Amino acid sequence: MSKLAVNGGSPVRTEPFPNWPQWTDAERKNVLEVLESGNWFRFYGDRVAEFEKRFGEYHDGKYALAVSSGTAALEVCMAALGVGPGDEVIVPCYTFVATATAVIHAGATPVYADVSLDDFNIDLDSVAQLITPRTKGMIVVHFGGCPCDMDKVIAFAKERGLWVVEDAAHAHGGKWAGRGMGSFGDAAGFSFQNSKNITAGEGGLFMTNDEALMNRAFSFHSYGQRTGYPWYSHHIVSRNLRMTEWQGAILLAQLDRLEEQTKLRLENARKLDAAISAIAGLATVGSSDPRASERAYHLYQFRYAPGIPGVSRQRFLEALIAEGVPCSAGYPVPLYKQPFMEEVAPPEGQGAYNQLHLPNAEAACREAIWLSQSLLLGAEKDTQDIIDAITKVVENASELQSAAS
Ligand SMILES: *Cc1c(COP(=O)(O)O)cnc(C)c1O
Repeated sequence: MSKLAVNGGSPVRTEPFPNWPQWTDAERKNVLEVLESGNWFRFYGDRVAEFEKRFGEYHDGKYALAVSSGTAALEVCMAALGVGPGDEVIVPCYTFVATATAVIHAGATPVYADVSLDDFNIDLDSVAQLITPRTKGMIVVHFGGCPCDMDKVIAFAKERGLWVVEDAAHAHGGKWAGRGMGSFGDAAGFSFQNSKNITAGEGGLFMTNDEALMNRAFSFHSYGQRTGYPWYSHHIVSRNLRMTEWQGAILLAQLDRLEEQTKLRLENARKLDAAISAIAGLATVGSSDPRASERAYHLYQFRYAPGIPGVSRQRFLEALIAEGVPCSAGYPVPLYKQPFMEEVAPPEGQGAYNQLHLPNAEAACREAIWLSQSLLLGAEKDTQDIIDAITKVVENASELQSAAS
């Protein structure tokens, strides 16, 4: 008789995991206050401004500018840094599409670096090989919430005269060596899209410690206006990327929960790491550097590597899902294989983007297993169920081998 749920056995778990997004009366009260104040626009109310102040302080950033999305935040970074045609910007190829499209929208050329299989973050050895006289800077992504080694990244960039942007869309509330993510580079972008660790459905935030960058960012996000000038005075060609007071109100309530939720995710992730690192065929992902010990988790990731003989990752995932643990394979291809990249002219001297082969990123696409951050917000029993489900699938893998043959 089959034991595995995927073969008709009874699953480890039938109850759902914690839902996302989460809210309380605090969100309800904050939104109603905005409604009844009639100040729905950020320059008439003070919710967005208050959120910027508190989010910036929490992440050790001097200036914070709320925007309409994480994508917008990265576009604001490029505009503030003056990125334009002829510039090359190095980005990791295992990331969300916005990391690269921000560069493309600025008129510049994205140059894809490989990632490290230890943490799925950008690999500086790969970056070093890609630098040309046209390279202006690099965007690093704290993938899944795992901090890049920011001591190394900043030293590397300084030595070569490059700027650094942190794509911190996965890293809210995380710290590197006790300092907030997003505060290390020249500028940073955060996202508050629905899946992110605090959310208003959509939203983003630009952060910097540089006043000149902040001023350019502000102008770019609000029709080219400048503080101190008449409102109908537009200094650069730009956009409207502002956040609404509704989003500010909700994010203020979400921010109050961030510290506690970040700690809980970390605690549960450590238990998963301990269990998974003891299972043959599976590998944990993430830095063991003590400077990363207060990291955020947007994703809990592990690698199906080398895996179980005769059982594909897909089969393993199906079995785990059937046991009641929602999980996915993550990105199916690195960004250079995306159809939209065919529209983009490759860097000088490089063939078409889709001819690239960056081995670690391709391995990550073949091997990764992702659990979303909300699965880490459960009680002890919830995390134990995840461990039990993984253990059960591994121990009964022979059922999958025969089913696969
Ligand atoms: C979500 C995400 C973004 C974009 O944020 P949106 O708010 O969805 O526009 C950028 N970079 C990374 C790594 C992301 O995961």
